[in-house]
Amino acid sequence: MQSGLTGLGMIPGMKLPDGRSEFSMTSNIGARTTTEWKKLDSAHFLHPFTDHKSLHQETSRIITRADGLYLWDSDDVKILDCMAGLWCTTVGYGRRELADAAAAQMMQLPYYNAFFKTATPPAIELAERLCQLVGMNFQHVFYATSGSEAVDTIIRLARHYWAIKGKPQKKYIISRQYAYHGSTIATASAGGMADMHKQGGDLPFFSQVMAPYWYGHQGDLDEAQFGIVAARTLEQRILELGPENVAAFIGEPIQGAGGVIIPPDTYWPEVQRICREYDILLAADEVICGFGRTGQWFGSHTFGIQPDLMSLAKGLTSGYVPLSAVMVGDRVANELIDHGGEFHHGFTYSGHPVSCAVALANLDIIEQENLVEVGASQGKKIEAQLRAALGDHPLVGQIRTKGPIGAIELVRDKSKREFFPSDAGVGMICRNHCFANNLVMRAVRDTMIFCPALVISDAEIAEFVGLATRAIELTYRDVKGLMVG
Ligand code: PMP
Repeated sequence: MQSGLTGLGMIPGMKLPDGRSEFSMTSNIGARTTTEWKKLDSAHFLHPFTDHKSLHQETSRIITRADGLYLWDSDDVKILDCMAGLWCTTVGYGRRELADAAAAQMMQLPYYNAFFKTATPPAIELAERLCQLVGMNFQHVFYATSGSEAVDTIIRLARHYWAIKGKPQKKYIISRQYAYHGSTIATASAGGMADMHKQGGDLPFFSQVMAPYWYGHQGDLDEAQFGIVAARTLEQRILELGPENVAAFIGEPIQGAGGVIIPPDTYWPEVQRICREYDILLAADEVICGFGRTGQWFGSHTFGIQPDLMSLAKGLTSGYVPLSAVMVGDRVANELIDHGGEFHHGFTYSGHPVSCAVALANLDIIEQENLVEVGASQGKKIEAQLRAALGDHPLVGQIRTKGPIGAIELVRDKSKREFFPSDAGVGMICRNHCFANNLVMRAVRDTMIFCPALVISDAEIAEFVGLATRAIELTYRDVKGLMVG
């Protein structure tokens, strides 16, 4: 059997900061053929969120390298990634600065924990910097590794906060239909994905209300009215459960994995009012929305939300290394610090120095290259060009964006906002056409979603719009027979 460490492959021209040695790859890509990689993958690797039997029939695409917005597979086919990996690679692939920061930190101090009254400089500096960037009432940070761990931490912090305040019965966490907050047992229970609830993610003291998904809601209300109606389902649920039993409401400013659901402008102010009126903590899950993804630094800035707790991940390190954080607002932090005693919670990798060093370098790039502003203006170009190319297309019901994130709704009857039957799998057909044409765009139901790196160039926008148009046209040919008119 071949070890990935034998015959290390070198990436030509890649030098460490001092020029001493070249970076070497820990897996020798050239050592196996595509067929061999695929066979080995099926034999041993259980992928996340995958029907393994069908994957084994279709086999995986093996991604071997990346640069900017492009990926290359093991057959050297170039692919345009308009999902930033999994909503992660804000600064694009192949940024030397991040590799240098990781290498330098690994040589200086590759690991130390933050338990037992110790800390490392990168974790301290990053905490200060995040507080400055987020602003509002945030002066404290709790670190974890994944988005799920960050949201899990929010759930524990919210319940602990109320217990400290002498209200331990305030335990319910309310979220929304189509919400995605992670895949641990608690975060799957907090999310609004029925299939996850069925597979063990169904803890008590979680409850979901309506999502602010105006396009998907087939009523006659205009967007502004619908935003209020959707927010008031939260009020109704709080009253049903009893405000004395509800700890927090958690929501993504824009629901990403649920289909890039951009709420009407009326929605978040009403949610904020309701949380204040019934004394419920408000948590913003910014795992996707942070770091320029919605046109401003954070989704809470874009929508004027003033949360008590906020989860961050993905764009924090551009996904180069795992790191997540919970921003803890003064209301909760002061209670925790002054009256909480020991908080029995934390992770081996909380504040990992290498991850924090990479996050600091990533924030440097975002600031130095004005990527929040750049992303916002590129997002506008994406929307304008998609509208020009696809606005009148019979299959396209709606194109929506907020900064450099967006969605295209594929519908059976555009005039009536009518969707295809779910078993027609129209979104999946379109996603397969994207895949076959070397474009990564994802399907959620029949909603095509995109979230390119903020560094997307004008030429790449044109390429994206061209490939998306082609995939939608090919889908149209496949499903025309199911359409009205
Ligand atoms: N919250 C949100 C809003 C997410 O989109 C995700 C992941 N896509 C998570 C939490 C969970 O993050 P992770 O997969 O890193 O655990």
